[in-house]
Amino acid sequence: MNKISVKIAVLFFIAIFILEGISMVFLHNNIIHSRVHEELTSLQTRGNNHREILEASFHDETIRHIAIMEAQTDTQVILTKPDGTIYMSSNKVADEMKKIMNIKPKSVPHEGLILEDDWKNEAYIASISPVIVDNKINGYVYMFQNTKKIKDLISGLNQHFLIAGLLSLLFMIIIIIFLTRFVTHPLIQMSEATKRISKGDFSVSLPNVGKDEIGELGESIKVLASDLEILKNERNEFLASISHELRTPLTYIKGYADIARRQGTNNEDRDKYLGIIFEETGKLSKLVKELFNLAKMDENTFSIEKEEVHLLPYFQTIIEKVSPAFLEYQIEIVLECPDHLYAKIDPMRFEQVILNLIDNARKYSEPKTKIDVVVKRIDGAIHMIVQDEGKGIPEEDLPRIFERFYRVDKSRTRALGGTGLGLSIVKQLVEAHGGAIEVSSSHNLGTTFEIIL
Ligand code: ADP
Repeated sequence: MNKISVKIAVLFFIAIFILEGISMVFLHNNIIHSRVHEELTSLQTRGNNHREILEASFHDETIRHIAIMEAQTDTQVILTKPDGTIYMSSNKVADEMKKIMNIKPKSVPHEGLILEDDWKNEAYIASISPVIVDNKINGYVYMFQNTKKIKDLISGLNQHFLIAGLLSLLFMIIIIIFLTRFVTHPLIQMSEATKRISKGDFSVSLPNVGKDEIGELGESIKVLASDLEILKNERNEFLASISHELRTPLTYIKGYADIARRQGTNNEDRDKYLGIIFEETGKLSKLVKELFNLAKMDENTFSIEKEEVHLLPYFQTIIEKVSPAFLEYQIEIVLECPDHLYAKIDPMRFEQVILNLIDNARKYSEPKTKIDVVVKRIDGAIHMIVQDEGKGIPEEDLPRIFERFYRVDKSRTRALGGTGLGLSIVKQLVEAHGGAIEVSSSHNLGTTFEIIL
């Protein structure tokens, strides 16, 4: 047994035990009380009946009849004179009876009263009824009943209660065992599953326990396990990619540095090699910067500070910024954006998105082609489109280009200074803005990226 099931079982047991105990004691007392009350009133009624007969005819004959009648029963009648001397008794008068008769009050009402009701401690319960003829007390009818009968009755009742109590206790224990099993068994399995997950075993199998809270917890653990597995695989792939990406420029740098420092290298060559080293270092620092950006996004430590941005001047400024490069590559860039459009974006981070897309369009286009940047509103959503007339992206690569380090043509994009991280950063930033990005492309006709906010 483990802790929670013990706790639940003990709590349950105590709660039901108290509840059952209280109700049993209550029931028990009620039954006893009403039984004793019944006996007492029937004793008093019997005494009153004798009294009535005596009041109708107070003769020796009648008294004898009453004595004979009462001798047949388990009660006993005693008739006394007003001064207390015994006139008649249906059986032998016991000492305890005399003791009870001594506590007779001064005045007794006509309907009689109970003289002794302490069935627990006394040998008899007793009642008294006065016999009144012509407004004068002629004597008293005492009725006695042995309390043994009541005691027997009650001990029988106690036995029944004990059996019922024990049975319900047994039943309760069985139910509690089943219930705690039912509740705690899945919990134990889940705790074992989470232990296995933390050790790196993600193949959790948990039983289906329905749609209650425990079932939901189980489902969450399964989801957690599969998420963790994906995350772990992603991390491994990511680390492998990083080390691979770092290795290439480092190999170049090491190789050229090695040749440059040789004695026989002339100055012209050395300058060339230093130039390559400088270029590769630039690529490395760009890679590291982008990795840092990605890491920040993964940790959610970067914040998006959205503000209402007037899109036309915003895009004009961006395009102005990149136009020297476009002039150099003889690529035309055309902006199409109505004046009245506004969007809630983080201007700094969104500029990074647009710059990345425009830069890609330029990198993968030939001179004398055109790039369109179109901003428009469709059904309340802002669409931002960057369309080029470049070489396009093969259809089989399209689904993967937003992955980290994914490049269509590895050697060519490396030469162009690509890291393969740009689009994955773009996608994360767009999604952090609550938007989506789509891509479509056809071979040698061009590529279109569309952001929908
Ligand atoms: P990179 O830094 O290599 O450009 P990206 O993540 O920005 O990395 O892009 C991933 C790959 O998608 C690129 O290597 C390139 O092959 C392809 N790509 C991106 N944009 C375009 C485009 N406009 N035209 C053709 N290919 C593109």
